[in-house]
Amino acid sequence: MPELTQALKARILAAVNDGYADQTDTLAQLVRIPSQRGEEAAAQDFMAAQYEARGYEVDRWQIDIDAIKHMPGFSPVAVSYDNAFNVVGTHRSRTRQGRSLILNGHIDVVPVGPRSQWSRDPYDPAIIDGWMHGRGAGDMKSGLIACMAALDALRRVGLQPAADVFLQSVVEEECTGNGALACLQRGYRADAAFIPEPLLPMLMRAQVGPMWFQVQVDGDPQHASAAFSGAGANAIQKAIFMIQAMDELEERWNGRKCEHTHFCDHPHPIRFNLGKIAGGDWPSSVPAWCTFDMRVAVFPGQSLEAARAEIEAFVAEVAARDPFLAKHPPKVIYHGFMAEGYELKDSEDVEAALRVSHEAVFNEPLQEYVTSAATDARFYGLYADTPAIVYGPECRMPHGNDESVNLESVRKVTQTIALFIAEWCGLEEIAA
Ligand SMILES: [Zn+2]
Repeated sequence: MPELTQALKARILAAVNDGYADQTDTLAQLVRIPSQRGEEAAAQDFMAAQYEARGYEVDRWQIDIDAIKHMPGFSPVAVSYDNAFNVVGTHRSRTRQGRSLILNGHIDVVPVGPRSQWSRDPYDPAIIDGWMHGRGAGDMKSGLIACMAALDALRRVGLQPAADVFLQSVVEEECTGNGALACLQRGYRADAAFIPEPLLPMLMRAQVGPMWFQVQVDGDPQHASAAFSGAGANAIQKAIFMIQAMDELEERWNGRKCEHTHFCDHPHPIRFNLGKIAGGDWPSSVPAWCTFDMRVAVFPGQSLEAARAEIEAFVAEVAARDPFLAKHPPKVIYHGFMAEGYELKDSEDVEAALRVSHEAVFNEPLQEYVTSAATDARFYGLYADTPAIVYGPECRMPHGNDESVNLESVRKVTQTIALFIAEWCGLEEIAA
Protein backbone atom coordinates (compact mmCIF):
# COMPACT_ATOMS: atom_id res chain seq x y z
CA MET A 1 0.00 0.00 0.00
CA PRO A 2 1.30 3.50 -0.69
CA GLU A 3 2.43 5.00 2.58
CA LEU A 4 0.39 7.91 3.90
CA THR A 5 3.27 10.37 4.15
CA GLN A 6 2.95 14.06 5.02
CA ALA A 7 3.51 14.81 1.34
CA LEU A 8 0.70 12.51 0.28
CA LYS A 9 -1.62 13.97 2.92
CA ALA A 10 -0.88 17.44 1.55
CA ARG A 11 -1.75 16.25 -1.97
CA ILE A 12 -5.04 14.78 -0.72
CA LEU A 13 -5.97 18.03 1.04
CA ALA A 14 -5.14 20.00 -2.09
CA ALA A 15 -7.20 17.58 -4.19
CA VAL A 16 -10.26 18.29 -2.01
CA ASN A 17 -9.73 22.00 -2.63
CA ASP A 18 -9.35 21.42 -6.37
CA GLY A 19 -12.71 19.68 -6.48
CA TYR A 20 -14.51 21.99 -4.13
CA ALA A 21 -16.24 24.18 -6.73
CA ASP A 22 -17.68 21.04 -8.35
CA GLN A 23 -18.62 19.62 -4.96
CA THR A 24 -20.51 22.80 -4.06
CA ASP A 25 -22.28 22.75 -7.42
CA THR A 26 -23.32 19.11 -6.92
CA LEU A 27 -24.61 19.97 -3.45
CA ALA A 28 -26.65 22.85 -4.89
CA GLN A 29 -28.20 20.51 -7.46
CA LEU A 30 -29.22 18.11 -4.70
CA VAL A 31 -30.64 20.86 -2.45
CA ARG A 32 -32.89 21.89 -5.38
CA ILE A 33 -34.59 18.48 -5.30
CA PRO A 34 -37.18 18.39 -2.47
CA SER A 35 -36.94 15.20 -0.41
CA GLN A 36 -39.42 15.40 2.40
CA ARG A 37 -40.88 12.13 3.58
CA GLY A 38 -42.82 10.46 0.78
CA GLU A 39 -41.08 12.32 -2.04
CA GLU A 40 -37.47 11.09 -1.71
CA ALA A 41 -37.32 9.06 -4.94
CA ALA A 42 -36.16 11.88 -7.25
CA ALA A 43 -33.30 12.85 -4.94
CA GLN A 44 -32.34 9.19 -4.65
CA ASP A 45 -32.29 8.91 -8.45
CA PHE A 46 -29.86 11.83 -8.44
CA MET A 47 -27.60 10.07 -5.93
CA ALA A 48 -27.75 6.79 -7.88
CA ALA A 49 -26.72 8.66 -11.04
CA GLN A 50 -23.82 10.30 -9.19
CA TYR A 51 -22.57 6.92 -7.92
CA GLU A 52 -23.06 5.32 -11.31
CA ALA A 53 -21.10 8.06 -13.08
CA ARG A 54 -18.17 7.27 -10.80
CA GLY A 55 -18.26 3.58 -11.63
CA TYR A 56 -19.54 2.36 -8.27
CA GLU A 57 -21.85 -0.66 -8.09
CA VAL A 58 -25.29 0.81 -7.50
CA ASP A 59 -27.96 -0.87 -5.41
CA ARG A 60 -31.35 0.90 -5.30
CA TRP A 61 -34.22 -0.76 -3.51
CA GLN A 62 -37.55 0.00 -1.93
CA ILE A 63 -37.90 -0.28 1.82
CA ASP A 64 -39.97 -3.37 2.60
CA ILE A 65 -41.59 -3.12 6.03
CA ASP A 66 -42.24 -6.86 6.18
CA ALA A 67 -38.52 -7.53 5.75
CA ILE A 68 -37.44 -5.33 8.66
CA LYS A 69 -40.34 -5.22 11.10
CA HIS A 70 -38.99 -8.05 13.25
CA MET A 71 -35.49 -6.55 13.53
CA PRO A 72 -34.27 -4.76 16.64
CA GLY A 73 -34.32 -1.02 16.02
CA PHE A 74 -37.45 -1.08 13.85
CA SER A 75 -39.81 1.87 14.29
CA PRO A 76 -43.53 1.45 13.55
CA VAL A 77 -44.94 3.53 10.70
CA ALA A 78 -48.35 4.59 9.49
CA VAL A 79 -47.25 5.93 6.10
CA SER A 80 -46.67 4.32 2.72
CA TYR A 81 -43.13 3.45 1.63
CA ASP A 82 -44.04 3.63 -2.07
CA ASN A 83 -41.46 6.35 -2.63
CA ALA A 84 -38.94 5.22 -0.01
CA PHE A 85 -35.85 3.92 -1.81
CA ASN A 86 -32.39 3.46 -0.41
CA VAL A 87 -29.33 3.83 -2.62
CA VAL A 88 -25.90 2.32 -1.95
CA GLY A 89 -22.87 2.87 -4.17
CA THR A 90 -20.09 0.38 -3.56
CA HIS A 91 -16.40 0.84 -4.24
CA ARG A 92 -14.74 -2.56 -4.58
CA SER A 93 -11.08 -2.65 -3.67
CA ARG A 94 -8.70 -4.64 -5.85
CA THR A 95 -6.40 -5.61 -3.00
CA ARG A 96 -8.71 -5.56 0.07
CA GLN A 97 -5.74 -5.07 2.36
CA GLY A 98 -7.36 -2.42 4.52
CA ARG A 99 -10.42 -2.01 6.74
CA SER A 100 -13.81 -1.57 5.10
CA LEU A 101 -16.02 1.45 5.68
CA ILE A 102 -19.63 2.58 5.48
CA LEU A 103 -20.11 6.26 4.66
CA ASN A 104 -23.72 6.98 5.54
CA GLY A 105 -25.96 9.98 5.05
CA HIS A 106 -29.69 10.56 4.91
CA ILE A 107 -31.50 12.00 1.92
CA ASP A 108 -34.74 12.86 3.75
CA VAL A 109 -35.32 16.38 5.01
CA VAL A 110 -37.85 17.62 7.55
CA PRO A 111 -40.95 19.61 6.47
CA VAL A 112 -40.32 23.24 5.49
CA GLY A 113 -43.33 24.62 7.39
CA PRO A 114 -44.96 27.88 6.22
CA ARG A 115 -42.95 29.19 3.28
CA SER A 116 -43.95 32.74 4.19
CA GLN A 117 -41.59 32.47 7.17
CA TRP A 118 -38.56 31.79 4.97
CA SER A 119 -36.50 34.64 3.55
CA ARG A 120 -36.29 32.76 0.27
CA ASP A 121 -37.52 29.59 -1.41
CA PRO A 122 -36.48 26.69 0.88
CA TYR A 123 -35.16 24.83 -2.16
CA ASP A 124 -33.12 27.68 -3.60
CA PRO A 125 -29.50 26.92 -2.67
CA ALA A 126 -28.35 30.55 -2.57
CA ILE A 127 -24.89 31.17 -1.14
CA ILE A 128 -24.80 34.17 1.19
CA ASP A 129 -21.65 35.15 3.09
CA GLY A 130 -20.19 31.65 2.75
CA TRP A 131 -23.35 29.83 3.85
CA MET A 132 -25.43 27.74 1.45
CA HIS A 133 -29.13 28.08 2.23
CA GLY A 134 -31.91 25.58 1.75
CA ARG A 135 -33.82 22.86 3.53
CA GLY A 136 -31.42 19.94 3.83
CA ALA A 137 -28.36 21.97 2.76
CA GLY A 138 -26.89 21.19 6.16
CA ASP A 139 -29.02 18.31 7.40
CA MET A 140 -27.62 16.51 5.70
CA LYS A 141 -27.12 16.78 1.98
CA SER A 142 -23.77 18.51 2.53
CA GLY A 143 -22.49 15.44 4.37
CA LEU A 144 -23.88 13.06 1.80
CA ILE A 145 -22.07 14.87 -1.01
CA ALA A 146 -18.91 15.31 1.11
CA CYS A 147 -18.49 11.52 1.41
CA MET A 148 -18.56 11.16 -2.36
CA ALA A 149 -16.28 14.17 -2.85
CA ALA A 150 -13.71 12.76 -0.41
CA LEU A 151 -13.41 9.65 -2.59
CA ASP A 152 -13.23 11.87 -5.70
CA ALA A 153 -10.27 13.68 -4.15
CA LEU A 154 -8.39 10.43 -3.58
CA ARG A 155 -9.07 9.47 -7.16
CA ARG A 156 -7.66 12.82 -8.29
CA VAL A 157 -4.31 11.84 -6.80
CA GLY A 158 -4.49 8.46 -8.53
CA LEU A 159 -5.54 6.44 -5.49
CA GLN A 160 -8.55 4.65 -4.05
CA PRO A 161 -9.39 2.91 -0.77
CA ALA A 162 -7.65 -0.43 -0.26
CA ALA A 163 -10.89 -1.83 1.19
CA ASP A 164 -14.53 -1.90 0.20
CA VAL A 165 -16.36 1.36 0.83
CA PHE A 166 -20.15 1.63 0.86
CA LEU A 167 -21.71 5.01 0.13
CA GLN A 168 -25.17 4.82 1.67
CA SER A 169 -27.89 7.36 0.90
CA VAL A 170 -30.80 6.40 3.13
CA VAL A 171 -34.37 7.55 3.75
CA GLU A 172 -36.30 7.85 7.02
CA GLU A 173 -33.52 9.16 9.30
CA GLU A 174 -35.64 12.05 10.52
CA CYS A 175 -38.63 9.97 11.58
CA THR A 176 -37.78 6.30 12.13
CA GLY A 177 -34.31 5.19 11.04
CA ASN A 178 -35.88 2.40 9.01
CA GLY A 179 -33.70 3.35 6.00
CA ALA A 180 -30.46 2.60 7.82
CA LEU A 181 -32.06 -0.51 9.32
CA ALA A 182 -32.91 -1.69 5.80
CA CYS A 183 -29.20 -1.41 4.89
CA LEU A 184 -28.42 -3.86 7.71
CA GLN A 185 -31.20 -6.15 6.55
CA ARG A 186 -29.75 -6.00 3.02
CA GLY A 187 -26.48 -7.33 4.41
CA TYR A 188 -24.24 -4.26 4.33
CA ARG A 189 -21.49 -4.56 6.94
CA ALA A 190 -18.10 -2.93 7.38
CA ASP A 191 -15.36 -2.48 9.96
CA ALA A 192 -16.55 1.05 10.77
CA ALA A 193 -19.22 3.56 9.83
CA PHE A 194 -18.93 7.33 9.40
CA ILE A 195 -21.92 9.69 9.38
CA PRO A 196 -21.26 13.37 8.63
CA GLU A 197 -24.33 14.79 10.38
CA PRO A 198 -24.09 18.59 10.69
CA LEU A 199 -23.42 18.54 14.42
CA LEU A 200 -20.05 20.31 14.12
CA PRO A 201 -16.56 18.89 13.34
CA MET A 202 -16.37 17.16 16.72
CA LEU A 203 -16.68 13.56 17.82
CA MET A 204 -20.12 12.60 19.05
CA ARG A 205 -19.73 10.40 22.12
CA ALA A 206 -23.36 9.65 22.88
CA GLN A 207 -26.87 10.36 21.69
CA VAL A 208 -30.34 9.86 23.13
CA GLY A 209 -33.02 7.68 21.53
CA PRO A 210 -36.10 9.55 20.36
CA MET A 211 -39.55 8.08 20.66
CA TRP A 212 -42.73 9.40 19.03
CA PHE A 213 -46.14 8.82 20.45
CA GLN A 214 -49.64 10.15 19.93
CA VAL A 215 -52.24 10.67 22.62
CA GLN A 216 -55.83 10.36 21.43
CA VAL A 217 -58.31 12.25 23.58
CA ASP A 218 -62.07 11.80 23.23
CA GLY A 219 -64.66 14.46 24.07
CA ASP A 220 -68.42 14.46 24.40
CA PRO A 221 -69.83 16.46 21.46
CA GLN A 222 -72.77 18.78 22.05
CA HIS A 223 -74.15 22.00 20.59
CA ALA A 224 -71.80 24.81 21.58
CA SER A 225 -74.58 26.45 23.58
CA ALA A 226 -74.90 23.37 25.79
CA ALA A 227 -71.34 23.70 27.02
CA PHE A 228 -72.35 26.57 29.32
CA SER A 229 -74.61 24.27 31.34
CA GLY A 230 -71.71 21.94 31.88
CA ALA A 231 -72.91 19.38 29.38
CA GLY A 232 -70.42 17.82 27.00
CA ALA A 233 -66.68 17.58 27.28
CA ASN A 234 -64.31 19.57 25.10
CA ALA A 235 -61.67 17.18 23.74
CA ILE A 236 -59.30 20.03 22.86
CA GLN A 237 -59.44 21.47 26.36
CA LYS A 238 -58.96 18.00 27.83
CA ALA A 239 -55.93 17.54 25.58
CA ILE A 240 -54.49 20.86 26.77
CA PHE A 241 -54.92 19.61 30.34
CA MET A 242 -52.97 16.46 29.41
CA ILE A 243 -50.28 18.39 27.54
CA GLN A 244 -49.59 20.73 30.45
CA ALA A 245 -49.08 17.76 32.73
CA MET A 246 -46.41 16.25 30.44
CA ASP A 247 -43.88 18.71 31.90
CA GLU A 248 -43.94 16.64 35.09
CA LEU A 249 -42.81 13.52 33.23
CA GLU A 250 -40.13 15.47 31.38
CA GLU A 251 -38.80 16.71 34.70
CA ARG A 252 -38.83 13.20 36.12
CA TRP A 253 -36.87 11.78 33.19
CA ASN A 254 -34.27 14.55 33.17
CA GLY A 255 -33.88 14.03 36.92
CA ARG A 256 -32.25 10.70 36.08
CA LYS A 257 -29.55 12.14 33.84
CA CYS A 258 -26.70 11.34 36.24
CA GLU A 259 -27.50 7.64 36.04
CA HIS A 260 -25.81 8.02 32.63
CA THR A 261 -22.16 9.11 32.78
CA HIS A 262 -22.19 11.00 29.52
CA PHE A 263 -25.30 13.08 30.22
CA CYS A 264 -24.76 14.20 33.80
CA ASP A 265 -23.27 17.54 32.70
CA HIS A 266 -25.89 18.13 30.03
CA PRO A 267 -28.35 20.86 31.14
CA HIS A 268 -31.47 19.14 29.80
CA PRO A 269 -30.78 16.02 27.74
CA ILE A 270 -34.34 14.76 27.36
CA ARG A 271 -36.48 17.16 25.35
CA PHE A 272 -40.19 16.59 25.30
CA ASN A 273 -41.45 18.27 22.16
CA LEU A 274 -45.14 18.79 21.51
CA GLY A 275 -44.81 18.57 17.73
CA LYS A 276 -48.34 18.39 16.41
CA ILE A 277 -51.90 18.86 17.55
CA ALA A 278 -55.21 18.31 15.77
CA GLY A 279 -58.79 18.25 16.88
CA GLY A 280 -62.39 19.37 16.48
CA ASP A 281 -64.47 19.75 13.35
CA TRP A 282 -66.50 22.91 13.66
CA PRO A 283 -66.65 26.09 15.80
CA SER A 284 -70.24 25.50 16.91
CA SER A 285 -69.76 21.95 18.18
CA VAL A 286 -67.99 20.93 21.37
CA PRO A 287 -65.02 19.01 19.93
CA ALA A 288 -65.40 15.25 20.00
CA TRP A 289 -61.75 14.46 19.44
CA CYS A 290 -58.21 15.80 19.78
CA THR A 291 -54.85 14.17 19.19
CA PHE A 292 -51.41 15.42 20.04
CA ASP A 293 -48.03 14.04 18.99
CA MET A 294 -44.93 14.20 21.11
CA ARG A 295 -41.27 13.45 20.67
CA VAL A 296 -39.54 12.32 23.83
CA ALA A 297 -36.25 10.47 24.27
CA VAL A 298 -34.49 7.82 26.32
CA PHE A 299 -30.89 7.55 27.48
CA PRO A 300 -28.43 4.97 26.13
CA GLY A 301 -29.08 1.62 27.75
CA GLN A 302 -32.61 2.52 28.81
CA SER A 303 -35.31 0.01 27.88
CA LEU A 304 -37.87 1.25 25.37
CA GLU A 305 -40.46 -1.12 26.76
CA ALA A 306 -40.06 0.36 30.23
CA ALA A 307 -40.24 3.88 28.78
CA ARG A 308 -43.48 3.08 26.98
CA ALA A 309 -44.95 1.57 30.14
CA GLU A 310 -44.00 4.70 32.07
CA ILE A 311 -45.62 6.98 29.47
CA GLU A 312 -48.83 4.95 29.50
CA ALA A 313 -48.96 4.84 33.28
CA PHE A 314 -48.38 8.59 33.44
CA VAL A 315 -51.15 9.32 30.93
CA ALA A 316 -53.51 7.15 32.98
CA GLU A 317 -52.41 8.89 36.20
CA VAL A 318 -53.10 12.36 34.75
CA ALA A 319 -56.43 11.26 33.25
CA ALA A 320 -57.54 10.05 36.69
CA ARG A 321 -57.30 13.67 37.94
CA ASP A 322 -60.18 14.70 35.64
CA PRO A 323 -63.70 13.27 36.12
CA PHE A 324 -64.45 12.98 32.39
CA LEU A 325 -61.01 11.63 31.39
CA ALA A 326 -61.10 9.18 34.27
CA LYS A 327 -64.15 7.61 32.62
CA HIS A 328 -62.81 8.06 29.07
CA PRO A 329 -59.09 7.37 29.35
CA PRO A 330 -56.97 8.71 26.45
CA LYS A 331 -55.18 6.16 24.26
CA VAL A 332 -51.45 6.19 23.54
CA ILE A 333 -50.29 4.93 20.16
CA TYR A 334 -46.83 4.76 18.59
CA HIS A 335 -45.82 5.55 15.03
CA GLY A 336 -42.42 6.90 14.14
CA PHE A 337 -39.22 6.88 16.17
CA MET A 338 -38.78 4.00 18.56
CA ALA A 339 -35.05 4.43 19.00
CA GLU A 340 -32.59 3.36 21.64
CA GLY A 341 -29.86 5.69 22.82
CA TYR A 342 -26.30 5.02 21.65
CA GLU A 343 -22.83 5.61 22.94
CA LEU A 344 -19.59 5.22 20.99
CA LYS A 345 -17.33 2.75 22.82
CA ASP A 346 -14.78 0.01 22.15
CA SER A 347 -13.69 2.17 19.25
CA GLU A 348 -10.09 3.24 19.95
CA ASP A 349 -8.85 2.45 16.42
CA VAL A 350 -11.52 4.37 14.60
CA GLU A 351 -11.29 7.30 17.01
CA ALA A 352 -7.51 7.42 16.55
CA ALA A 353 -7.92 7.57 12.77
CA LEU A 354 -10.41 10.42 13.12
CA ARG A 355 -8.25 12.27 15.63
CA VAL A 356 -5.15 12.31 13.45
CA SER A 357 -7.18 13.27 10.36
CA HIS A 358 -9.01 16.08 12.14
CA GLU A 359 -5.79 17.50 13.57
CA ALA A 360 -4.11 17.50 10.16
CA VAL A 361 -6.94 19.70 8.84
CA PHE A 362 -7.86 21.90 11.79
CA ASN A 363 -4.49 22.09 13.58
CA GLU A 364 -6.21 21.59 16.91
CA PRO A 365 -7.24 18.60 19.00
CA LEU A 366 -10.51 16.83 18.31
CA GLN A 367 -13.21 17.75 20.84
CA GLU A 368 -16.13 15.55 21.75
CA TYR A 369 -19.71 16.14 22.86
CA VAL A 370 -22.98 14.38 23.63
CA THR A 371 -26.23 15.29 21.96
CA SER A 372 -29.90 15.38 22.88
CA ALA A 373 -30.62 14.59 19.23
CA ALA A 374 -30.19 11.24 17.48
CA THR A 375 -28.56 9.88 14.33
CA ASP A 376 -28.54 6.61 12.42
CA ALA A 377 -25.25 5.72 14.16
CA ARG A 378 -27.20 3.59 16.63
CA PHE A 379 -27.95 0.93 14.02
CA TYR A 380 -24.27 0.19 13.37
CA GLY A 381 -23.21 0.42 17.00
CA LEU A 382 -26.09 -1.44 18.64
CA TYR A 383 -27.16 -3.98 16.04
CA ALA A 384 -24.08 -4.64 13.88
CA ASP A 385 -21.21 -4.36 16.38
CA THR A 386 -19.69 -1.62 14.21
CA PRO A 387 -18.28 1.59 15.70
CA ALA A 388 -20.02 4.55 14.10
CA ILE A 389 -18.43 7.99 14.03
CA VAL A 390 -20.64 11.07 13.82
CA TYR A 391 -18.68 14.16 12.77
CA GLY A 392 -19.77 16.83 10.33
CA PRO A 393 -20.06 20.45 9.25
CA GLU A 394 -21.61 23.46 10.93
CA CYS A 395 -25.27 24.08 10.20
CA ARG A 396 -27.51 27.00 11.20
CA MET A 397 -31.19 26.41 11.91
CA PRO A 398 -31.49 22.70 11.13
CA HIS A 399 -35.23 21.91 11.11
CA GLY A 400 -35.90 25.69 11.31
CA ASN A 401 -36.51 28.50 8.85
CA ASP A 402 -33.58 29.59 6.63
CA GLU A 403 -31.47 26.48 7.27
CA SER A 404 -27.94 26.98 5.97
CA VAL A 405 -24.57 25.26 6.04
CA ASN A 406 -21.15 26.83 6.40
CA LEU A 407 -19.30 26.00 3.18
CA GLU A 408 -15.86 26.47 4.72
CA SER A 409 -16.71 23.88 7.37
CA VAL A 410 -18.01 21.53 4.66
CA ARG A 411 -14.68 21.89 2.81
CA LYS A 412 -12.67 21.10 5.92
CA VAL A 413 -14.92 18.20 6.92
CA THR A 414 -14.48 16.80 3.41
CA GLN A 415 -10.71 17.02 3.91
CA THR A 416 -11.00 15.20 7.23
CA ILE A 417 -13.13 12.48 5.63
CA ALA A 418 -10.63 12.04 2.79
CA LEU A 419 -7.74 11.65 5.23
CA PHE A 420 -9.85 9.39 7.46
CA ILE A 421 -10.58 7.08 4.53
CA ALA A 422 -6.85 6.96 3.74
CA GLU A 423 -5.99 6.21 7.38
CA TRP A 424 -8.72 3.66 7.93
CA CYS A 425 -8.97 1.83 4.62
CA GLY A 426 -5.43 2.34 3.37
CA LEU A 427 -4.82 3.23 -0.26
CA GLU A 428 -4.13 1.41 -3.49
CA GLU A 429 -3.30 2.54 -6.99
CA ILE A 430 -6.23 2.79 -9.36
CA ALA A 431 -5.86 -0.02 -11.89
CA ALA A 432 -4.92 1.15 -15.36
ZN1 LIG B 1 -29.63 14.74 10.02
